Amino acid sequence: MECISVFDMLKIGVGPSSSHTLGPWRAAERWIKELKANDNFHKVEEISVDLYGSLSLTGKGHATDYAIMLGLSGADPELMPIETIDTIIASITNSKAILFNNELLLDFDPTINIIFNKKFLPFHSNGLKFSATINGRKKSSTFYSIGGGFVVQEERKNSKKNKAIFQNTFPYPISKGTELLKYCSELNKSISEVVLENEKSIRSIETIDFEFERIWNTMLECMYIGCHTEGTLPGGLNVRRRAFDMNKKLIGTSQYKGPNEWIATIRNSEVKFRQIIKWVSCFALSVNEVNASLGRVVTAPTNGSAGVIPAVLMYYLVIENHDGNFEDIKRFLLVAGEIGSIFKKGATISAAMGGCQAEIGVSSAMAAGALCELQGGTPEQVLVAAEIAMEHHLGLTCDPIGGLVQIPCIERNAMGAIKAINASELALDSDPHHMKIPLDKVVNTMWETAKDMNSKYKETSEGGLAVGVNLTDC
Ligand code: SF4
Repeated sequence: MECISVFDMLKIGVGPSSSHTLGPWRAAERWIKELKANDNFHKVEEISVDLYGSLSLTGKGHATDYAIMLGLSGADPELMPIETIDTIIASITNSKAILFNNELLLDFDPTINIIFNKKFLPFHSNGLKFSATINGRKKSSTFYSIGGGFVVQEERKNSKKNKAIFQNTFPYPISKGTELLKYCSELNKSISEVVLENEKSIRSIETIDFEFERIWNTMLECMYIGCHTEGTLPGGLNVRRRAFDMNKKLIGTSQYKGPNEWIATIRNSEVKFRQIIKWVSCFALSVNEVNASLGRVVTAPTNGSAGVIPAVLMYYLVIENHDGNFEDIKRFLLVAGEIGSIFKKGATISAAMGGCQAEIGVSSAMAAGALCELQGGTPEQVLVAAEIAMEHHLGLTCDPIGGLVQIPCIERNAMGAIKAINASELALDSDPHHMKIPLDKVVNTMWETAKDMNSKYKETSEGGLAVGVNLTDC
């Protein structure tokens, strides 16, 4: 059984895509480590990168080429100043040279050394191969970006042994909803408490709190930036940022400085049903507008769906519970992370494998379950909430126009967030014993649906809105 930490599911990174940006970036870092481990790094004479399948088909719109150049340059997606991205890319493009891992100057022309191949590799639709010429001979390593920023290489001979070691890491290994409920009942703990026990087995409580604070601060800052940035998104579709105007209309003439005063101001404003929907949508749009402009976001579980969880958590803090605090944020993220990992283990969180149900559907299920626990739901009701949210995203296709994570992606986050809130309310008013579809069943159904889905609808931009809308209309 795979052992996935909440911090594997919620990762700080750079937009616009976890599978097409963060994954390839991390793959470049891993390749550099591999070269160093084999004592080959300083012998490298030339490098090139081949992209396959979905990474190639929507790689341009998803900034895969940028991510690779940044990864090869040794930039850290969690820490690098976002405003330096354009300068680094321009410098490589203009000089046709790269400072490999910030150490070794090599010739590198992105138009020649990053190769977009239409063919799919058999192991996964998001394949990429790094090649280095060492002593005149070419050595290659292939990686797969399997969604949510996770990167793997094809199973190696000793992987069974590695998996066995990995499996024993958590005291409460969970791959299904039924197992999670069993631990809750045996230990008489909530879902967040069980998940916290697992996290505590691999890191100290101080580190856990520090990481959750970092994650929440990144989410909040992202919403704040998105709500206070005007203009048009990059990429050529001329998509106008909407969170700025929405925030302005909703907040009126109130004055505030910084994210925390902003929260206090929203808490003090009058909200009826329409305003609630608008606020939740505004929070979700803001994150994905930042994501689309290569800003810093938290992958939750992917970048394309990064707006759902912050929007629902923010809803809880500014609408539902004005006394909501860090402990609530932590519980929310623990539950959300665990639900996401159940989908990753039993189905997929990769749009290239399962369409948008794997991104927005999963993020909505994560947010629904997490909100349900904060609203007093039992562990059984939490899983009902997650199930309801996914049930109504089944079959959702991935068809981004122009290969950009903008249309329909940005609005989808607003829809996913609203559905999550509704799913939580429905679960709170439901007796789990009367529910017909357990979470594990919907996870399995999502996976079967993913396998049946035509590849046109799996992040290739070869079907749906991507071909139905004329780019000149945008
Ligand atoms: S359509 Fe959905 S899955 Fe596809 S890129 Fe957009 S948000 Fe991601």
